[in-house]
Amino acid sequence: MIAPRTGLVRLPEPAELQRLIQEHARPLPRYTSYPTVPYWDRDFGEAEYRGALERASANRHQPLSVYVHLPFCAKRCYYCGCNAMVTHRDEIVDGYLDHLALEIHRVQDYLGSGRRVTQLHLGGGTPNFLTPRQMSRLVRLLTDAFPLAEGAEVAVEMDPRIGSPEQARHLRALGFTRMSMGVQDFEPRVQAAIGRIQPEEQTVSLMEAAREAGFASVNVDLVYGLPYQTPESFRRTLERIVELAPDRVATFSYAHLPELRKNQRAVDTSGLPDDSTKLDIFLTTVRTLTAAGYDWIGFDHFARPDDELSLAVRDRRLLRNFMGYTTRSAPDQVAFGVSGIGALGGCFVQTETRIDRYRDTLAGGGLPIVRGHWLSEDDRRRAAAIQHLMCNLELPDSLLDAGTFGASPELARRMEAFAREGFLRPDGGRGWQVSDLGRFFLRNLAAELDAYLGRGSMLPTFSSSI
Ligand code: SF4
Repeated sequence: MIAPRTGLVRLPEPAELQRLIQEHARPLPRYTSYPTVPYWDRDFGEAEYRGALERASANRHQPLSVYVHLPFCAKRCYYCGCNAMVTHRDEIVDGYLDHLALEIHRVQDYLGSGRRVTQLHLGGGTPNFLTPRQMSRLVRLLTDAFPLAEGAEVAVEMDPRIGSPEQARHLRALGFTRMSMGVQDFEPRVQAAIGRIQPEEQTVSLMEAAREAGFASVNVDLVYGLPYQTPESFRRTLERIVELAPDRVATFSYAHLPELRKNQRAVDTSGLPDDSTKLDIFLTTVRTLTAAGYDWIGFDHFARPDDELSLAVRDRRLLRNFMGYTTRSAPDQVAFGVSGIGALGGCFVQTETRIDRYRDTLAGGGLPIVRGHWLSEDDRRRAAAIQHLMCNLELPDSLLDAGTFGASPELARRMEAFAREGFLRPDGGRGWQVSDLGRFFLRNLAAELDAYLGRGSMLPTFSSSI
């Protein structure tokens, strides 16, 4: 347990907050990148990616971040929005590792083998679906090509339902230091409605095993807005989580989009909370976790005060990349595996999302890139301001570069309007700070700095922060 802290979060009454959210609701992206993915170029393909890799090869003494997407799961959860596939055949996973090997070696041909990895993240799907033999092979493949730097953060996403103490020890022996486990909600009725039965003991036992194995950080992912959740029921889950004392808690908003995600048609929608209940659930989350001593990070993450994310926020140096909040983002982030997203050599790139096309392109000697974006100087300045806003909750004048934002009186007027609503407060003549209320409108604030939004017919898929 960590020391309770109270009185730190200042928010209006839920009804007033709901009114403000409705008033400012519009389709806005999450700003995990700038420009956001819908504005990347579909004509950007393999030739452009090879050009970006060549440019990145000049950074041979710089660290590298690596993401690997492992799409396999034992069973599809109804609520899932990830690029995941169900298989029960070892040879399918082995074949995928064969193709990953081709991709890794092809990228290594450009980047060379001297790049040290400061951040490695396995995401999915379910990375711990791999057998010990497959996981050992994958780690060897990666570290032979790109050795880990001393003190590297080596993270893996875990499904506790198929985790075990032996697996935790094996992963630790392979060099993993951080484990994020999917919990979502401990309530049996909610678990039944989303097709993911996960007895609490499985989570507790994996968490204990991870600590005993020596993981430096154990994190938990929750989802709010699921069927049959209420503020009271979710508080019970949160209180159990607080007792387990993970280093970080990430809370994700459930977006019910059955037209886009067919598996969500199986979700029991009769129990879906309405907007105001969902907001209450999120407010309960903020209040319960901050009262238990966690720091509120960005909009929907929480970290112990001694966690490096909390320390970084205090120093205004928190960063975010495609792997989430971080303090260790390298100048080049390379992604391997189906649907991976990377940022290197001055551009963003996205890998093919269909596994059959991913395999065919690699087998044919290519690199399966489906879109990307070369960053202009204007993009970089706006991206820096948006990232700082979303991570460190401030907009210093130094980032509102006159060349980019045109010393815009219009922008200043809009920021003053947000300040009158209580979303921003002046930062001693140095710019703006985001209030606790303003966290709910971070996307609205970021949208003011976005030069692409509204161009063409592209709309992001999410419409509100809650
Ligand atoms: S939620 Fe996780 S475990 Fe469930 S299907 Fe999606 S990726 Fe697999």
